Amino acid sequence: MAQISAVEKLFTVIDNTATILKEELACTYLEAVAETGENLFQNTILQEELSELSKKRIEKEYTHVKLDQYAVEEIRKSYQLAALKGMKEATQANHEMTPDAISIFMGYLVSKFTEGWKGFSIFDPAVGTANLLTTVLNQNQSKEIDAFGIDVDDLLIKVAYVSANLQRHSIQFYNQDSLQPLYIDPMDVVVSDLPVGYYPNDLGAASFELHAKKGHSYAHHLFIEQSLKYTKEGGYLFFLVPNHLFTSEYAKELNSFLKEHAYIQGMIQLPLTLFKNEKYAKSIFMIQKKGPNVKAPKQALLANLPKLSNQTAMAGIIKQIDDWFKQEKY
Ligand code: SAM
Repeated sequence: MAQISAVEKLFTVIDNTATILKEELACTYLEAVAETGENLFQNTILQEELSELSKKRIEKEYTHVKLDQYAVEEIRKSYQLAALKGMKEATQANHEMTPDAISIFMGYLVSKFTEGWKGFSIFDPAVGTANLLTTVLNQNQSKEIDAFGIDVDDLLIKVAYVSANLQRHSIQFYNQDSLQPLYIDPMDVVVSDLPVGYYPNDLGAASFELHAKKGHSYAHHLFIEQSLKYTKEGGYLFFLVPNHLFTSEYAKELNSFLKEHAYIQGMIQLPLTLFKNEKYAKSIFMIQKKGPNVKAPKQALLANLPKLSNQTAMAGIIKQIDDWFKQEKY
């Protein structure tokens, strides 16, 4: 099956059936995407309130797809295209899905840092639709991975868990505020596209070292502290962060907190063309939690990623990354 046509075919079935469900159930398109995804996974139509005519139309659409004939990446892409369409209809700031190009690159970095490991545990404290987390899992299929995802948004958690089911990943999801105590053991790896902005719960923020002395604290700073708390010594953390992380307010406090608890592994600035506005451009920030046998890298990996379509420049960066790993890790 050629990849484009497989993705298009599955997307069309999800899109057509979500449109029918949206109208009949008077719900949002995004909710309908999760409903139809669950139907596909359970291989039945779960919405009893549907009219016979709609049931027949949906059944007919489902006959066009046999999920077990699709590769996981094809399933992820088709479902996420539909989720993306639903999120455009009603997106709130900070709830945007992590784009594929960035997720794939983060998956590649996770695979480099965990090279030679038989398996590991991983968690995303701002898992959203799980596009980032499942892309990372799909890039590391040769390893045994225990995965966990947390998000405060109950609809996104539903979209995420249906996505995980369809891709045959067993991920444990929690619907809660990640800046409250978590019900997970420390992990080997954290990967997250951090929500950027203020955390409105000042009382909750007060228990963090990185809380603001006056007014609301930065959620992204608290997320870094919380993630480190739930990471094993020597574990790696990969965050998508705003480029202004170390120039904005409280950067000094963040810097000294990081010096105490982690070793900075690298910062890779993503091409500005990936973002609508330069102001919102981001970088991948990589750290390792300190521990008795953990050593600081001689040099952090600092790079500016070129436009992903510029193959020659990309090859140069990949070589720079490979050389860094040879010197520092292997
Ligand atoms: N990587 C995700 C994906 O691929 O869909 C997108 C992450 S999005 C940039 C940030 C997420 O953080 C949103 O889904 C939002 O609901 C979540 N979030 C914001 N504040 C949170 C909190 N206090 N606890 C848990 N999740 C939170």
